[in-house]
Parts: sequence; structure tokens; C-alpha cells
Amino acid sequence: MFLYLNDHSYYDDLYDLHTIEECLDWYWSLRKGMEQHREELKTKEPDTDFDKEVHKCCSYTVNVIKINRYRHKKERISEWMEADRRRQEKIDNATPPDGVRCDKCDSATKVIDKTLHDAYDDNMRVSFIFECLKCQKRQIFYEDGSPWDFKRPKCKDCDVELKTKYEEKGEKLTTITYCPKCSFKEVDVIDSKNKRIEREKEEERQRKILEEYRSEFCLNDESGPKAVASLDGIVALSKKWKEQEKKEKDPIFQKAKKLKKLKLNQLKDLISKAIVDNGYTDLEFSKPEMGKFVIVEFSATDSKDDREEYDSTHMLKKVVKSALESTNWRLMSEGIHYRLGIVSGRLKAYEREEDLISLVK
Ligand SMILES: [Zn+2]
Ligand SMILES: [Zn+2]
Repeated sequence: MFLYLNDHSYYDDLYDLHTIEECLDWYWSLRKGMEQHREELKTKEPDTDFDKEVHKCCSYTVNVIKINRYRHKKERISEWMEADRRRQEKIDNATPPDGVRCDKCDSATKVIDKTLHDAYDDNMRVSFIFECLKCQKRQIFYEDGSPWDFKRPKCKDCDVELKTKYEEKGEKLTTITYCPKCSFKEVDVIDSKNKRIEREKEEERQRKILEEYRSEFCLNDESGPKAVASLDGIVALSKKWKEQEKKEKDPIFQKAKKLKKLKLNQLKDLISKAIVDNGYTDLEFSKPEMGKFVIVEFSATDSKDDREEYDSTHMLKKVVKSALESTNWRLMSEGIHYRLGIVSGRLKAYEREEDLISLVK
């Protein structure tokens, strides 16, 4: 019976083997691509050691592949093992249908083998070979009792079922499919000796490359996590750089960057100078609120007796807004309050980059 589930080391070897092959493939195809530029570089930069540079460049790419292979290794192996475990359980736990009797002599039968069909898709089924205890005639049934639905191919010319003959010579199995009516004949030779030799050669090749390259391309649980963390660090950093570069090119970002970031003292000076020329005096600031944003309330006295609420609030609003335009401070949306010639309002400071950008948008 076919064994689906292997022990962990089998999957570990298989995964590492794929890693090595992927790394080597990349390395050599990159080298080949660069080789075309050897002469070009020789004339341009005669002092550069071409081989050294190319090796450095290819190794960098291969290193990234190698780290990513390590990153997914545990997960992939557990997926493989889980899938094979399901196959193994399916065939191990399948129960043969009851009461199958020989269809030739009606004697009792016994199960001599079972097979898992469609093992690699979703509708796996198990079939059993029953052999008659008396005449040895064989029949095949699935778990649910339905017969094996193998349809013999028919001869295209005569429309009769083709027959099969087997000839075994040493490790060579010849299957001859022929038509009983006409001369149609198909010969298929399976040379199990050749197959065995090929398989042994392949196993030897795999064993060799595992031995030769495993330590170079397959990270272990000590070096692996460190390499993953450092690669992620580099990737995050270069992403940040790229974003920064893109931002620097954005006119809105440039505008936001140019906003003057005023300290409270500088703000007081600026507002004071701006309003005094327009007839407001006694400027005072309250204690600032230190929340997500810094907010500070101010009040002043309108020294022009003939200026009423509407004109006074409008004038102050205009003056304050234009004074703050090139800074990171803004008059809050509720605007200016007016009572008995006293004007007041609140100012809010923007500090974070994204808030500054939203200011200039
Ligand atoms: Zn029988
Ligand atoms: Zn025929």
C-alpha cells in the first residue's frame, strides 16, 4: 500500500531542495544576463573586477530569495504534512463494502489491496481489490460498493473493446493493447530497471546538492529569524525613503513644509503686532490647553468706539487670519466673539506632518 505521510525530515529535505534549486537557478540566470555586459564594462571601467561585482550583485538577490524561503518554510511544510495526513487517513480508515462474493463462482472473497484515487484533488475515493478464495477471480469496488468504473477503450475502426496482453521479461513489462478483430496494436514498454536507475540517479543528485549547498542557501532556526528581521528592516527603511522622496516632490508637501512653526511667544508677538495697527489693544492670552492640539484663547479691546460688533469681529477675523496664513496656527472655526468692545477667539496649533498638509490642501 502506498505511503502518503512521511516523517518531518522528508518534507524538510524536500523544501530545502527546492530552495537550493531556486537559488541556483536565479544565481546562474542573473550571471548569464550580466555576462553580456562584460566587454562593455571593461572599456568603461577597466579597474572594476567584473566577476567580483557580478557575484556581489547576484548574491544579493539570491540572499533575499533564501530569506523569504526560510520565512515560509514552517508554514509550507505543515501544509504539505496536513494534506498528506488527510490522504493517509482517508486510505487507512476506509472500510471495504460488506458481502462481496465472486461473480463467477459465488464463493467468498477477501480484500488483497486498496488504492486511493484522485489523491490530489477534492474527491478522493478508495477502491478495494477482492479476490475469490476459490477461483482467485478479482473484482474492484469502491468504499460505497459501486464497481470500479474502468471503461475499456474501443477500437476506432471496429467499435469493439480492445484487449490487453502483458509480457514480463526481467524488469521490463510490455503491455500490448490490441483489437481482436483487426490488426490494430499498441505496445507500451515500461522498463523498471531504467526507471529505477533514473530514480537512483535523481536521488543521488538531490543528496549531493543538499550536501553541497544546504548550509549556504538554507537558513536554520537560529540564523533564519535574524535574517528575516534584518531584511524586513531594510525593506521598511527603503519604503520610507521612497515615500519621503515622493513627498518631497509633492507641491502640497513643500508648501506644508514652508509653514513657520511658531512657539507661543512668537505667536503672541505676531498677533500683537498685527492687531495693534488696526485699533485693538490690551491683548491677553489664557493658559494654553494641551490636548492632541495646543489651543490658546486670546482677548483684546477694540479701541475704536464707533466700531460696532459686526465690523469689529470681521476686521479682527481678517487681520488674524492673514497674519497666521504662513504659520502653523489657525483661528478656530467658531470665529471671534464680541461683547462690550471686548473681542476674543481661540487659536489652534498644528504640529504633525499630516495635519500641516491638511492645512495647506
Ligand atoms: Zn470464484
Ligand atoms: Zn479493430
